[in-house]
Amino acid sequence: MTATLIDGVAVSRATREGLAARVAALKAAGVTPGLAVIIVGDNPASRVYVRNKVKACGELGMHSALIEYPESVPAAELLARVQALNADPGIHGILVQLPLPAHLDGAAVLEAIDPAKDVDGFHAVNMGALATGLPGFWPCTPAGVMVMLDHYRVPLQGAEAVVVGRSNIVGKPQALMLLARDATVTICTSKTRDLAAHTRRADVLVVATGRPRMVDGSMIKPGAVVMDVGINRLPDGKLCGDVDFDSARQVAGMITPVPGGVGPMTITMLLANTVLSAERAHKAGRKP
Ligand code: NDP
Repeated sequence: MTATLIDGVAVSRATREGLAARVAALKAAGVTPGLAVIIVGDNPASRVYVRNKVKACGELGMHSALIEYPESVPAAELLARVQALNADPGIHGILVQLPLPAHLDGAAVLEAIDPAKDVDGFHAVNMGALATGLPGFWPCTPAGVMVMLDHYRVPLQGAEAVVVGRSNIVGKPQALMLLARDATVTICTSKTRDLAAHTRRADVLVVATGRPRMVDGSMIKPGAVVMDVGINRLPDGKLCGDVDFDSARQVAGMITPVPGGVGPMTITMLLANTVLSAERAHKAGRKP
C-alpha cells in the first residue's frame, strides 16, 4: 500500500481563498485586518520567516507592520512598543518572532501582548482558553494540522490519536485540539519508555520532535494518518521531517510530505487568526 499524500500547499491555497473573501467583506465595512510583526536581531532564519509573513499579508490585501530592533534593544523599549500596539486599533494581531536574544525574557514579552491580539496563540490566557474550550486563538501549527485533517475528512471521534512531542507551541496544544474533537489522546515525550508501542496504536499520529526521521514505517499502524510537523535541514541542505517518509508511506493510509505538508499551513493559520481578530474587533465596535 502507498499512502495518499496530504497536500499542505493545496489545503493552504483553499484556506486562503476563504480568507480572501472575509478580508474583502471586512474592507467593505471599512476595516483592514492588520498584523504587526516584531523581530529582534538578525537571525537569518527568523528574517526569512518574518519576510514570508509580511508577504502573505500583502497577498491577501491585509495591512502589516514590520518592526525591527537590534539585538541590544532594552527590554523596556520592546515592552513599551508591545503596549503601544496593544492600544493601536489598526493592529489586530501582534507577533513577536522567536527566539529572542538571551538578555530578553521571552515569556514576559509574550505575556505583555493583549490576549485579544495574540494571533500566535502563545499567551497563557489563550492556552487556558484552548484547554477549557473557551474562544481564543489557537497556536498556528497545530491548528493547521486540524484544518488538514478536516479537509481530508479524517474521522477523529473515538480515534486513537498519538502526539509525539509536548512543546507549548505544537505538541501540547495539538493534544488539546484532538481531545476537544473526542479523540483518545496519548502524548509521548523523550522520556516515554516504549515509543513504538504507542505509535503503533495510533489511528492518527502527529510527530513534532525535531529529530530527523525518528519515526519509521515499523512504528506505524497500517492505514494510519501520519502528520509530520518536523522541519529538519540535513547536512546536504535538503529538508526532511521527523518521520522517515519513504518507509512510512508504505504503511500509512495518508501522510504529509516534508516539505509541502504541515509547513505551508502555519502562516495560513496566522493570517486566519488575524482575520478572526479583526472580525471580533469589528463586531465589538472597535474603530480602526
Ligand atoms: P521542541 O524541541 O520544543 O519539542 C520537541 C519535543 O519532542 C519535546 O517535547 C521532546 O520531549 C520530544 N522529543 C524529543 N525527542 C524525542 C524522542 N526521541 N521520543 C519522543 N519524544 C521526543 O520542538 P517543537 O515542538 O518546537 O518543534 C518540533 C518540530 O516541529 C521541529 O522539527 C520544528 O522545526 C518543527 N516545527 C515546524 C513548524 C511548522 O511550521 N511546520 C512550526 C513549529 C515547529 P521532552 O519534552 O521530553 O524533551
